[in-house]
Amino acid sequence: MNAIENIEKIVGIENVLTGERLDQYEVDPSGKYKGSSLAVVRPKNTEQVSEIVKIANSRKIPIVPQGGNTGLAGGCYVGEKKDTIILSLERMNKIKEIRGDGRIAIVEGGVVLSKLHEAVAEYDLIFPLFFGARGSAMIGGNLATNAGGSNVLRYGNTRDLVLGIEAVMPTGEIVDLMSELHKDNSGYNLKHLLIGAEGTLGIITAAVLKLFPKPKAYATATISIPSLKDSLPILNELNKATNNCVEAFEYMPEEYFNALCERFDDMRQPFSTPAKHGIFLEIGAMAEEDASPDATGNIPIELKVEELFSEWLQAGKILDAVICKSEAQRSEMWDRRERAYEVGLLKGVPVACDISVAVDKVDDFLTKVKKRVYTLNPSSETLTVSHLGDGNLHFSVWMNPETKEMGSLHDREQITEMIEETVLELGGSFSAEHGIGLAKLPSMSRRKDPNAIAVMRMIKSALDPNHIMNPGKVIPDENLLKT
Ligand SMILES: Cc1cc2nc3c(=O)[nH]c(=O)nc-3n(C[C@H](O)[C@H](O)[C@H](O)COP(=O)(O)OP(=O)(O)OC[C@H]3O[C@@H](n4cnc5c(N)ncnc54)[C@H](O)[C@@H]3O)c2cc1C
Repeated sequence: MNAIENIEKIVGIENVLTGERLDQYEVDPSGKYKGSSLAVVRPKNTEQVSEIVKIANSRKIPIVPQGGNTGLAGGCYVGEKKDTIILSLERMNKIKEIRGDGRIAIVEGGVVLSKLHEAVAEYDLIFPLFFGARGSAMIGGNLATNAGGSNVLRYGNTRDLVLGIEAVMPTGEIVDLMSELHKDNSGYNLKHLLIGAEGTLGIITAAVLKLFPKPKAYATATISIPSLKDSLPILNELNKATNNCVEAFEYMPEEYFNALCERFDDMRQPFSTPAKHGIFLEIGAMAEEDASPDATGNIPIELKVEELFSEWLQAGKILDAVICKSEAQRSEMWDRRERAYEVGLLKGVPVACDISVAVDKVDDFLTKVKKRVYTLNPSSETLTVSHLGDGNLHFSVWMNPETKEMGSLHDREQITEMIEETVLELGGSFSAEHGIGLAKLPSMSRRKDPNAIAVMRMIKSALDPNHIMNPGKVIPDENLLKT
């Protein structure tokens, strides 16, 4: 009996997909990475995952774990050889338990992020991981990529939101690390080894997640500022005035607003005078006195922010401001920010960088890097959207915006390397929140400490002796390192 027949016995023939039904699993959201797999298998529980992995390991069949397939680094790419199994977590979608007082949720790896948001809202709680792909991305994928998003400045990255995990290792053993504890110093922290490993060290099948009180009211606004340098004092003053309640602080420059309106008919500029530097911000008030409407129906946190804005307008610290007065306005503002990915594809596939620098070096980075891009290629165009509050920039360059052609590999690599150099000069990272996958392997070999890569390779070999678990991702092969 071949491996697929054996797997059919475990999950049922209807959960082993082949032929045309593979399409949606084999191509990434940008369409850049399209591979060809042996089959997609859809286990129902951890024991089935373990049995499948044991079969694959004994026959040296590569496995690529997959959640919502929204990753932006090619981490789910299966190659062209039709020799790889995609293991989809989509049927492992149970929210097993929500304990309101304990502020934890126990979930399977295939729970869609937005479904978790909806479920915990009933307890007046939040799981504070928010980004545009939340309607498809799954918890296992979020943990595997250590996803970031718009609320990192207040709540941290995914890694900071996890108490425990369960995983199936590349040899098929189930590792139970489902701790519900905030303190648990009991040996090596395998949870953190698996989080962010992008499926190369095992399959995350379940997790214990931290929940937080839902803010009692939101003040959501877009402001126009004279220069990017003015942004940090504003963030710091807002945090000071609101007891550190700033949840989102996102940078959108004029080019972004223009591209957004060009791409979407239902989108409009936030201000009548175009903002050269726009900041979208949200404050989540926790205190009752900030959230309960006053006698005239006004929400105190909104009034506080309005007062600050009018002071800053007079002082010239900001040029314009819009504060949301309804949930509809709030979702319009979020929408404006969350369409960034689609806007990014407007002029063809860009050289897209997901980098981070210290929060007070963002302006310096952008000034330097733009100058260097235009020196290298005067006809290119750039676009930035940034999680400014945590120093993470999505910086894109189009080599030929008119023709939408990608540009030669040499030119694209030259731009990428220049961006990396600029990041390095400022002590930043070439990889902020989307992970390495396939996309950033060359950068990894160029920029990561070779000793660190050597240790990663040892860990990988020790845990995955047959190299079946998402092979070829994250760790550059040795030949790439030598070039
Ligand atoms: C419109 C849009 C906006 C986005 N915004 C953000 C953002 O703001 N911040 C951010 O960080 N990311 C963002 N992303 C990227 C992406 O949504 C995240 O990386 C997300 O966490 C991936 O989850 P997923 O379930 O789709 O994972 P997948 O794409 O299915 O997989 C991603 C990687 O994780 C591995 N993997 C998946 N599931 C498991 C598992 N259970 N166990 C082990 N390995 C697994 C895969 O093999 C792959 O290497 C965005 C993507 C889109 C399309």
